[in-house]
Amino acid sequence: MRESAISHRISENGQVELSQEEIRRYSRHLIMPEVALEGQKKLKAARVLTIGAGGLGSPLAMYLAAAGVGTIGVVDFDVVDESNLQRQIIHGTSDLGRPKLQSAKEKLEDINPNVKVETFEEALSSENALDIFRDFDIIVDGTDNFPTRYLVNDACVLTGKPNVYGSIFRFEGQASVFWAEEGPCYRCLYPEPPPPGLVPSCAEGGVLGILPGAIGTIQATETVKLILGIGEPLIGRLLLYDALGMRFREMKLRKDPNCPICGENPTVTELIDYQEFCGIPQAQAAAQQNAVPEISVRELKEKLDRGENVYVLDVREPHEYEIANLGARLLPLGELPERLHELDQNAEIAVHCKTGGRSAKAVKLLKDAGFANVYNVKGGITAWSEEIDPSVPKY
Ligand SMILES: [Zn+2]
Repeated sequence: MRESAISHRISENGQVELSQEEIRRYSRHLIMPEVALEGQKKLKAARVLTIGAGGLGSPLAMYLAAAGVGTIGVVDFDVVDESNLQRQIIHGTSDLGRPKLQSAKEKLEDINPNVKVETFEEALSSENALDIFRDFDIIVDGTDNFPTRYLVNDACVLTGKPNVYGSIFRFEGQASVFWAEEGPCYRCLYPEPPPPGLVPSCAEGGVLGILPGAIGTIQATETVKLILGIGEPLIGRLLLYDALGMRFREMKLRKDPNCPICGENPTVTELIDYQEFCGIPQAQAAAQQNAVPEISVRELKEKLDRGENVYVLDVREPHEYEIANLGARLLPLGELPERLHELDQNAEIAVHCKTGGRSAKAVKLLKDAGFANVYNVKGGITAWSEEIDPSVPKY
């Protein structure tokens, strides 16, 4: 059986016994022949590393702890922010401002004090990934960005570990088990990263708070199945979940013989610079070249206070305007090209959005259309809320 390889490896982690307390705690597992005492001991002997204590990492680590996975490693270096609480259920309101690793560790130890939680308070990088991965049996990817996702994949291939993958966006998620020894890897599916900025992050595009719960628990299920060596793992299959339609679909994945890391003639034989690979520095340089004139929120405030004739244009969407606005004229970026005629070419125009990205595009568009005196409000309405007027809600 293909799935028994990892399960067998875990059995070799060392002899473990269950205490009476553990036998009571895991009774609903122990009475199932698919788990039984032997399986529960495997769970206890298993060492699982979760990358990130965020949306996916929360349900994932909590269920793995409850299920009795003996050692859970968590890599994260973030602090708990209010905007995390809508989905990152491992952290609570009283944890605001604390390192995520602290609140995650406390929560996991409260769920199950038998679990050993190993924390790595650092960004996963090409320098530390192989060292960290080496001591774990299974790696579970709960990251939200492409450089880290490729890094996790490559480090898993190079160390021979299964990579239990999940990703989420808005109302949709996907999950798979990438394990080069048994099937395709993430690069077999996505050989090239998307151009930077093309795929919006959850911070830009939003995510249904429950969505990581659905995907994270699928990742936890796959992890437990791999440890126990039962069922059909998601190896060679990409599971697609659509929360709005409430549908699951499945895509067959094949190992690519030309895959640069797990193929027949690999060209990637060590970890590389993943920022570079994903085109981030190049995109930053290009952005600098295409830089548009900017103004800080303080400068804008001073201009307005002096009664200067500045026309403030908001290029966000109407539903965002409803949450918070500066009383500016609303004209969403997507409609701007057709509605240029509504604006005065000779006016001094300050363009803002949520954090400054969309408004920079709008300024470029206006400049190209012959508007002479337009500039971008750096940091957008978020900066205005932080630096000028805290009564403007930050979202
Ligand atoms: Zn591959």
